[in-house]
Amino acid sequence: MPELPEVETTRRGIEPLVVGRVVEALRVYDRRLRWPVPASLPRWAAGRRIDALDRRGKYLLFRLSDDTLLVHLGMTGSLRAYSDPPPPRAHDHVDIVLDSGVLLRYHDPRRFGAMLWLPPPAEGHALLADLGPEPFDAAFDADYLWRALRRRSAAIKLVLMDNHVVVGVGNIYASESLFRAGIRPTTPANRVSRARLGRLVDVVRATLAEAIAKGGSTLRDYVDGHGDPGHFQLDHFVYGRQGLPCRVCGAAVRQIRQGGRATCLCPTCQR
Ligand SMILES: [Zn+2]
Repeated sequence: MPELPEVETTRRGIEPLVVGRVVEALRVYDRRLRWPVPASLPRWAAGRRIDALDRRGKYLLFRLSDDTLLVHLGMTGSLRAYSDPPPPRAHDHVDIVLDSGVLLRYHDPRRFGAMLWLPPPAEGHALLADLGPEPFDAAFDADYLWRALRRRSAAIKLVLMDNHVVVGVGNIYASESLFRAGIRPTTPANRVSRARLGRLVDVVRATLAEAIAKGGSTLRDYVDGHGDPGHFQLDHFVYGRQGLPCRVCGAAVRQIRQGGRATCLCPTCQR
């Protein structure tokens, strides 16, 4: 599943190709995504200039003056740029043709992604209105997190993955960040001290930044199909390493279930 670093890498890869360009045509091959692609989308988008490409959480936001084209990659979605596009294949849902001749193609086998048109103000749309701060925002700091968590007795890992608290911290990055902060994932959120939350803020940022930096090496090949940011293999400490020795202390990494998802942790390093 694309997480925040993959989405940010997609944004950085596409941004120089789309900003300032005019949408010559938008072609929909299959409207069946998580929500149906609006039938009027080709008409709405045609002839519009893309002023900016932003990201909010895992949503890509193409700004076309006052309106916004929202794209979410879901579980298996990708957005690739072509200067010489091959014919559409199965699971290619939407093509966006730019006046430069570049074509952006949205591909999504499992169809959990989304492509929606948001009239202004886009940030008031139900998908965006209640999102917490971005992990790299100054607003996401120890005081903020302490206030957001002080009445939450659910496990810290589940609360960290709650988009209302902070956006874009999915399963991998929550597991890795809690290891690096030395916090046991099952600890009630309101039992973690403010000092340890400060450390958690730092390691969430560092872990995401490391993954985005790894994705940067794929950017130069973004056009013509080599630009799939895929999944960045961080040198994980715990994620996917159940049964293997902890890289820090040598104890066996354990796997538990939390909220239906796997959590990996070191029973010695995380207290
Ligand atoms: Zn350990």
